[in-house]
Amino acid sequence: MRVTIDEDACIGCGVCEAMCPEVFKVEGDKAKVINPEGCNGCNCQEVAESCPTQAIIIEA
Ligand code: SF4
Repeated sequence: MRVTIDEDACIGCGVCEAMCPEVFKVEGDKAKVINPEGCNGCNCQEVAESCPTQAIIIEA
């Protein structure tokens, strides 16, 4: 799995960090991926679907 964020689309709302702080971290007004491989506990697909601007990209 590879997790990336479309920074142009991200509005920095913090939903992704709230759902999975192991993978996502908001810095300033954008989220960053701090663990592109994903984590063990969360469903990153679900996080991506919860992003209000669909900025999270999950590649298998
Ligand atoms: S949920 Fe989406 S818009 Fe919100 S901070 Fe994360 S990537 Fe950005």
